[in-house]
Amino acid sequence: MKPGIWRRIDLEDPLKFHNYHEFSSDLSALGQLLQTYVANAQSGEGKTITQEPMPSVAEALKLEQHIRHGGLKGEARHAFMEQYLDYTTRLHHPGYMAHQVAVTSPGTALGATISAVTNNGMNIYEMGPPASTIEFTIVNWLLGKIGWKEMPWPADMPAAAGAHGAGLLTHGGSLANLTALLGARAHAFPKFWSEGMGDVKPVILASATNHYSISRAAGIMGMGTRSVHHLPTLEFGVLDPDKVAAVYRQSVADGGTPFMLVANACATASGLYDPLTELAEVCKELDLWFHVDGAHGSAALAAPKLRHLLRGVELADSFICDLHKMFATNALCAAVLMKRAPDLFGTFQQDASYLFHEKDEPGFDFMPHTVECTKTAMGLRFFLVLAEMGEEGMADFITDLHEESTKIAATIRDTPGFSIPHMPESNIICFRYGDDCEQQVKLRTALTRDGRYHISTTLLEGKRYMRVVIMNPATRVSDIKDMLRRIETFAGET
Ligand SMILES: *Cc1c(COP(=O)(O)O)cnc(C)c1O
Repeated sequence: MKPGIWRRIDLEDPLKFHNYHEFSSDLSALGQLLQTYVANAQSGEGKTITQEPMPSVAEALKLEQHIRHGGLKGEARHAFMEQYLDYTTRLHHPGYMAHQVAVTSPGTALGATISAVTNNGMNIYEMGPPASTIEFTIVNWLLGKIGWKEMPWPADMPAAAGAHGAGLLTHGGSLANLTALLGARAHAFPKFWSEGMGDVKPVILASATNHYSISRAAGIMGMGTRSVHHLPTLEFGVLDPDKVAAVYRQSVADGGTPFMLVANACATASGLYDPLTELAEVCKELDLWFHVDGAHGSAALAAPKLRHLLRGVELADSFICDLHKMFATNALCAAVLMKRAPDLFGTFQQDASYLFHEKDEPGFDFMPHTVECTKTAMGLRFFLVLAEMGEEGMADFITDLHEESTKIAATIRDTPGFSIPHMPESNIICFRYGDDCEQQVKLRTALTRDGRYHISTTLLEGKRYMRVVIMNPATRVSDIKDMLRRIETFAGET
């Protein structure tokens, strides 16, 4: 390579790659392409999922050539994006029932575009005042829904001296859980942050049906995944509040120091909610921090008809919520919330740094209170959905998905050969064909190969089930009936 070659290019046209002259026409062509992509998917034509082996995808998309030669723009880029969409898994298709990731609406997609262009690295106010203000407002909206005190405007914070809740948005629920666990640990063991854990063996009490991000967080925090002690459960992995004290005592007898309890609202596998009020009472008696993992089931916060599922959540110390699951927002967008602001503000250092907020600061910096340094303007993507639907529209959207799920579960239950372990409390439904565990996996594989329906499987009380999550308002009972017929056919073939 000749020395200085990059510089010559730069001097020719320093804005060569930052030139937005054709952006509007590129974007309108992309808009047309995406509109067609979504319409095709929503019509239910064709497959939800196609999984070519990775080398074939790399080959078809000519990934290496494009990197080597560069120049992918204009019509060539358009053709690439078209092909990309051909190979992608289509969440807008009514057959999409495998995962808990939201089916996007145009508002959230437009928000992503603004965020993509402006690239305001949210976390300090000066990098994007509207994005920060939206994050602040959404956190307060969620705090209000839980029944916790909202954050005062930054100028009024010093006077409030932390007598309110607090929260922030994170890129995903796993990071939100990690933040909550760190907050709980800092509350119980303030010196750990600087001094390490020494001989202390902190213990987290949780059900075996917890999301894996809890034990992963325990591993990341250096406590070891074995610091998560499993609690006895009622049927289908729902926590039994009456059995907590015995496990607590055993953990202490074994030399551990239990400091928190994690409840599911709802559990990822079964979609069932733990009894929060009763668990909160036990936590109070045993002086345990009470964390509620509402990554999926926080939907009930926004739907009055479902709010009873989260009864007692206001008694928790911390709560997380994935807006990119039930709230129709594109990934990633999650929130971690704490009842007492000083707990969040003290998570990453011992000082209660809310005191450092000068009255004349125009905004609020989330940065001192998060794992992340740079964040996208993720609140905007949620705000544009919520502001289009309004609170009532959001409530209807979530309630409809739940009501359709109840009908779907009843349909499966009443179809000969199929069974469900329990009626759903959320939009997550487990079911089986026959009672052979291995066959459930085989049937799911056959279904995925067929491609029209994309579902998952899960273990519940040691048994394998097929599992659907009704995330898509386009998924109706008629789709399920067709899927069950296909499963029966595949079962006949295996
Ligand atoms: C999805 C989920 C998580 C993890 O959230 P991500 O946003 O995928 O990181 C944590 N807990 C529960 C209960 C979940 O359902």
